[in-house]
Amino acid sequence: MKDHIEQTTSLWMATEEIPLRAKLSRNVEADVCVVGAGIAGMTTAYLLASRGNSVVLIDDGPLAGGQSQRTTAHLTNALDDRYFELEKVHGVEGSRLAADSHSQAIDRIESIIISEGIDCDFQRIDGYLFTLPGESPRMLEKELAAAHRAGLNGVEIVPNAPQPSLQTGACLKFPRQGQFHPLKYFMGLGRAIEKCGGRIYCQTHVKSVEGGDTGRVTTEDRYTVTAKDIVIATNVPINNLLAIHTKQAPYLTYAIGATVPRGSVAPGLYWDTLDPYHYIRLQSNSDATDTLIIGGEDHKAGQVRDQQEHWQRLESWARQHFPLITTIDYQWSGMVMETTDGLE
Ligand SMILES: Cc1cc2nc3c(=O)[nH]c(=O)nc-3n(C[C@H](O)[C@H](O)[C@H](O)COP(=O)(O)OP(=O)(O)OC[C@H]3O[C@@H](n4cnc5c(N)ncnc54)[C@H](O)[C@@H]3O)c2cc1C
Repeated sequence: MKDHIEQTTSLWMATEEIPLRAKLSRNVEADVCVVGAGIAGMTTAYLLASRGNSVVLIDDGPLAGGQSQRTTAHLTNALDDRYFELEKVHGVEGSRLAADSHSQAIDRIESIIISEGIDCDFQRIDGYLFTLPGESPRMLEKELAAAHRAGLNGVEIVPNAPQPSLQTGACLKFPRQGQFHPLKYFMGLGRAIEKCGGRIYCQTHVKSVEGGDTGRVTTEDRYTVTAKDIVIATNVPINNLLAIHTKQAPYLTYAIGATVPRGSVAPGLYWDTLDPYHYIRLQSNSDATDTLIIGGEDHKAGQVRDQQEHWQRLESWARQHFPLITTIDYQWSGMVMETTDGLE
């Protein structure tokens, strides 16, 4: 299944390429070794290096070559599993923590972009959660109340989302979400890590990780990184095959990128309540067009043979709701790890 994913190219991969870094070819030491250079590992490496720690960041592909290059890059504090559901599992305090950490993550990305001068099309943008025709508005009211209890006091019910063709009716508005071009961001973040003295190695597969007072990471080529601390940021852990693996399930998700005339779709992040749901955003192009990105059609990994059907269904949903689409230019898929605590 991984091979199928790797054969597809996201909008970001088609429009930006991050230069490779060298392989690790000697033994090195650091305060911290971070394994995995997706959004989790690169952010960790940057924050540690910018506070004066010596950091080695290792990935077995290019930078951001995992799921981070396949994301649709909605930066949100509106959570897929709904605040009223999270409250049942984690209580109001847990749900406040989730809201606060997601809000702070958007703020943090914005502050890194500003302080490091990263040109990555970052925008603050409102998000809209809308129900399906005929669905009771009760769910939105419950989510509104739970979002307020979680501290998201700016969330409100509005009569319509700004995109008329979606015919959302009353929907929930989450203000000040974010979006960016992920690979442009990672390109800048990589430079920032190196500016702070961080060392990045690509195409370096980690074979084993040993903890203890002094940790050791060993690569496939038998080189080692000795470090006081090791951070495993490989999306799915490579060091502990039990604790987390039993609490998460891999899902495939699909996305398409369609050309629409500039200005024909109102900027916003949009999510419906279908199961699996659709997620929608825009990305501006250099000509007089925008790319409309629509994702969805998720299913558990390994349970579907014909991926093409999923893109076709996305396309027909897209054409029904956005009649000004001219061409479908991108189709890609990727893996999302769903966790049992609802906080993925
Ligand atoms: C189509 C799609 C749309 C999505 N949309 C959104 C969205 O709108 N908003 C959102 O928040 N999330 C979204 N996601 C989810 C998001 O992309 C992921 O949660 C996120 O990118 C995971 O980042 P990561 O750093 O944990 O993992 P990854 O980006 O996968 O990085 C892990 C890295 O570890 C490396 N690695 C693994 N094993 C080893 C090893 N043994 N040695 C060395 N390196 C190793 C890999 O090469 C990889 O580069 C979406 C995902 C998909 C597929």
